[in-house]
Amino acid sequence: MQAVSAPFTSDDYRARMGMAARAAAAEGLDGLLVTPGPDLVWLTGYQPTAITERLTLLVLRCDAEPQLLVPILEHPDAASAAGAGAVTIRDWRDGADPYAAAAPLLTADGEFAISDSAWAMHLLGLQSRLPKVRYSSITERLPMLRPVKDAAELARLEAAGAAADATFREIVKVRFAGRKETDVAADLARLLREFGHEQVDFTLVGSGPNGANPHHEAGDRTILTGDMVVLDFGGLMAGYGSDTTRTVCVGEPTAEMSEVHEIVRVAQQTAFEAVRPGVACQDIDRAARRIITEAGYGDEFIHRTGHGIGVTTHEPPYMVEGEVRPTVPGMCFSIEPGIYFAGRFGVRIEDIVTVTADGGRRFNDTDHGLAIVE
Ligand code: ZN
Ligand code: ZN
Ligand code: ZN
Repeated sequence: MQAVSAPFTSDDYRARMGMAARAAAAEGLDGLLVTPGPDLVWLTGYQPTAITERLTLLVLRCDAEPQLLVPILEHPDAASAAGAGAVTIRDWRDGADPYAAAAPLLTADGEFAISDSAWAMHLLGLQSRLPKVRYSSITERLPMLRPVKDAAELARLEAAGAAADATFREIVKVRFAGRKETDVAADLARLLREFGHEQVDFTLVGSGPNGANPHHEAGDRTILTGDMVVLDFGGLMAGYGSDTTRTVCVGEPTAEMSEVHEIVRVAQQTAFEAVRPGVACQDIDRAARRIITEAGYGDEFIHRTGHGIGVTTHEPPYMVEGEVRPTVPGMCFSIEPGIYFAGRFGVRIEDIVTVTADGGRRFNDTDHGLAIVE
């Protein structure tokens, strides 16, 4: 089951950094400032084991080679990162001013876009050292940089989706009634790892009334016959994310449960069919929302329809009202409408979808019908 993907090499990361620098130049930027987090992982493969207050900064200029400034104690770790061969590593020593060390790597003025995950203290430090530089957001200025995946990334996301699907096909065989949510959550985590995930990010098990809270994780509630149970799980496999949700019923559903599940199924399918290049992200949200609103449950659909996925399991772009940017081939995101009745139960169905020239393609394909478990 486990797909074997050759690890990305320094050449792969050099190509990504080159592409990012060209995109920055085309935007009129002088470069990018990248701190630990998903941008740094994507550009260099480097993920410091502990993110501390000590400045780590990749300076990606349009007119110079990439430079990675790290605390001296992190230098060996940084030098062993997969993309280390594509950057010049510089370090600074405790007791010195890291912003003084960073300043010569930038230009004295101009504009640099910085990672969303950069700590405010680092941006403030750079601003005080280089007051003439203008700073903006990488996500705002280069919204297509990470969201649009290449073939190697799509293969990883597809494999992660298949592993999550294999997990679902096994979890419906386990006993639910009489066990705690945390027991089923532990089963999900074990299965994700068995099917190849190196990291489990979440295993949400929302039984009965807990299913009405979209971000309920798993508690010590004992699952009962007659419960609807929302199962939302995912993590990273070969560095790329999975995230899928199915809602199951323990024993026979009531007519209301079946009806609500069917509305969510149709909403999810309708949003999926709305996917094609050039459609605004908000239109995918609207497609799902229209179905649920027309069925009378608009107030019970209390979250956006989807989020991007890549080297993390939640990232831009968001399928939400107000996001007018278009979807383009290679973009990958979730479609996960839901209906939630406070104090009673919830239903959500979620697949990861990629945009192709012809429309959407799912990376999750387990059955969308309401599965009955024991
Ligand atoms: Zn979420
Ligand atoms: Zn999810
Ligand atoms: Zn999701």
